[in-house]
Amino acid sequence: MTAKILDGNAFSAKVREGLAVRAAALKAAGVTPCLAVILVGDDAASAVYVRNKVAACEKAGMRSLKFVYPSDIEPAVVFAKIAELNADPGVHGILVQLPLPKRFDSDAVLEAISPEKDVDGFHAENVGALVQGNPRFIPCTPYGVMEMLKSEGVKLAGAEAVIVGRSNIVGKPMAMLLLAESCTVTVCHSRTADLAFHTRRADILIAAVGRAKMITGDMIKPGAAVIDVGINRQADGKLCGDVDFESAKEVAGLITPVPGGVGPMTITMLLANTLESAERVAAERQPEKAHK
Ligand code: NDP
Repeated sequence: MTAKILDGNAFSAKVREGLAVRAAALKAAGVTPCLAVILVGDDAASAVYVRNKVAACEKAGMRSLKFVYPSDIEPAVVFAKIAELNADPGVHGILVQLPLPKRFDSDAVLEAISPEKDVDGFHAENVGALVQGNPRFIPCTPYGVMEMLKSEGVKLAGAEAVIVGRSNIVGKPMAMLLLAESCTVTVCHSRTADLAFHTRRADILIAAVGRAKMITGDMIKPGAAVIDVGINRQADGKLCGDVDFESAKEVAGLITPVPGGVGPMTITMLLANTLESAERVAAERQPEKAHK
């Protein structure tokens, strides 16, 4: 058996086309969706992520604002910029690229972003809303994974879903979303006693660890949907996932490659969240239309 390979670039392009149509409609109604991105420091990977996010915004017909600060900037300057963007009615989404330099209290920075503009979905208020099953913004990577699973018609209710990794940005929100779809969810981590015991039970296996090729074909249930969130740089400079693609694709029913799987969808869902935020603002402006 060879797994179906889920092309994240192609799926992402399709979703972005739909977002661009919605953005154009909103623009015609007088609201241009706008994402503000803050980058602190000179981390090369972060700079690339920010550049890609800004470019994706422009391509989808949305506005973007970029604020770049040196790593020795006073945190107060960044907090002041966030406060200014919170108050700006023309800004619908605010994103602070992580990781921040060590001098920063990252949690405090994320909490300073208005929950109404927190398009990464990391603010405690938005995390709480997600846990309660009433999300305002869904964190982009898990949001993208859910869209991919749904687009492929993967059976969710009653399925055994196993997530490897329990971070706040991927593993935990992923668990909440799968639970909301009535999966039976197991979350594994570095202290899990017998990882393969759990992964072999998974109808849906999500790998979000950051360890190259750690999930091998013998750890996968035949026919499983395997979603590889991991991004790892190998010695030869090439990227690979947390799943050993070559052995896993012989066992799985569906698999995402790295690169070209989950990665493109993360930025796509950032655009989706920014657009949703702008649509809410537009609906508030014209309540009579919104209720039609
Ligand atoms: P974190 O480092 O925050 O979390 C990693 C998780 O993996 C932790 O919960 C850790 O457990 C667990 N873990 C570590 N070692 C093992 C092990 N041997 N067995 C089982 N679990 C283990 O990473 P992130 O969640 O931020 O990211 C995970 C990966 O996904 C990274 O490669 C990252 O680059 C990638 N990523 C990709 C995105 C995309 O767009 N495709 C977006 C975001 C992340 P413990 O909690 O016990 O330490």
